[in-house]
Amino acid sequence: MASRVVIVGGGFGGLYAARALAKAPVRITLIDRHNYHLFRPMLYQVATGLLADDEIARALRTIFSANKNVDVLMGEVKGVDAARRFVQLDQFDVPYDYLILATGIRYNYFGHDDWRTVAPGLEALEEADEIRDKILLAFERAEKLAATGEATREAVCALMTFVLVGAGTVGVEMAGTLAEMSRITLRNDFRHIDPSEAQILLYEAADRILPPYPASLAAKAQRHLETLGVKIFTKTRVTEVDEQGIVADGHRVLAGTVLWGAGVLASPAGQWLGAKVDRSGKIIVNSDLSVPGHPEIFAIGDTAHVVAPARNLLGMKNKKPMTMPGVAQPAIQEGEYVARLIRRRIADKPAPPPFSYKDKGDLAIVGRAYALADLRFVRFAGFLAWVVWAAVHIYFLIGFTNRFLVMVRWGFAFLTKRRQALIFPGQLEKRDDGGASTSSA
Ligand SMILES: Cc1cc2nc3c(=O)[nH]c(=O)nc-3n(C[C@H](O)[C@H](O)[C@H](O)COP(=O)(O)OP(=O)(O)OC[C@H]3O[C@@H](n4cnc5c(N)ncnc54)[C@H](O)[C@@H]3O)c2cc1C
Repeated sequence: MASRVVIVGGGFGGLYAARALAKAPVRITLIDRHNYHLFRPMLYQVATGLLADDEIARALRTIFSANKNVDVLMGEVKGVDAARRFVQLDQFDVPYDYLILATGIRYNYFGHDDWRTVAPGLEALEEADEIRDKILLAFERAEKLAATGEATREAVCALMTFVLVGAGTVGVEMAGTLAEMSRITLRNDFRHIDPSEAQILLYEAADRILPPYPASLAAKAQRHLETLGVKIFTKTRVTEVDEQGIVADGHRVLAGTVLWGAGVLASPAGQWLGAKVDRSGKIIVNSDLSVPGHPEIFAIGDTAHVVAPARNLLGMKNKKPMTMPGVAQPAIQEGEYVARLIRRRIADKPAPPPFSYKDKGDLAIVGRAYALADLRFVRFAGFLAWVVWAAVHIYFLIGFTNRFLVMVRWGFAFLTKRRQALIFPGQLEKRDDGGASTSSA
């Protein structure tokens, strides 16, 4: 009987592992709580109305429709029985011979999980839609309040204040895009408010923004954000989040919208196995990405703490082994590596050498037509970096139709400075309970 490979998580790691195994003599069960693969790097484009949900996501079932040995199951994995080799799905158990855990991360609210409802973080499509609605509703509420002619300037200003907690890549990208949206896209769309007066406040507890980037690039990003009107507060800790806004270093800041991007925690996969984990809960894996004590279980992507030798795009080797960052490339390369290892084990061939990483560098977008590129052997910021960012991200979108549509949509948005996905389903009044408390603040 063909070996049974169960993959939990249809993100970058799980998807690329399944693709690389799809032609092997194995039976694959790919399990995800969503029925789609999501291109997370473009999630904030959905959250700010540039792209629609289906332009950055594709049904897993469609991706594997031609691979009869791939069984896609939509469900929530609750645990793993490693002794009996079963994955515990919400309603039944799924047996495996090999298990690949690629369950990603969630945001860390540092013990304040109740903040999650007030200050969502950009994780999946649900949150992107929720955030887009929050942003649009904030402007709609401000317009309605200003139209009464009785509102105080402070109340309208509070509704048009957007707080971003955490100045990592997601916070910086959101701040830049929000600035573009309020200063350019929505500029002429309201009659009683001026969206370009929206305040965008970015808070970071560390002493600078973009900690994973070289200081010189982070400084350029900061200057660019400031020219877009974003106010940046470094070395400032947010200690309270509620419907009225935040408290930062003891000061109350009234804000209609608070968004979270401050820190991440790995999924509970490490707890399922009782495995050794690092501070953020990532499973500390062996050099072949297997979980210590379980040669048939692998953890990859954001679920795993991987330290491996690395080479840059020019083939130059790093002096020291590198801890894999929480981005898509390690997840993709680890997924493909584990697939190769399983294929060789099944064919009774010697194991491949330990995992090593091809470090293609980092890219981040900071508003319209400006990005950062750290390709390790060269670093630059500005329009050229934005062109590289756009080309790479569109290239990696799954599926030709998506790529084509996104290129058209993006080109149109760039030329016309408009966004196409600026509607929210539902009615303002039905969602207005939060607005009442904010507006009276
Ligand atoms: C807003 C945002 C922007 C980003 N921008 C970039 C970028 O520009 N460039 C870059 O390289 N990286 C970026 N990243 C990081 C990148 O997306 C991740 O590093 C990458 O997705 C990790 O891949 P993964 O396979 O480990 O996990 P994921 O892609 O997160 O996939 C995990 C999957 O597991 C599923 N899952 C989790 N738990 C369970 C469970 N219990 N049962 C069933 N299914 C489960 C989830 O639904 C999800 O589909 C960004 C991330 C975010 C959130």
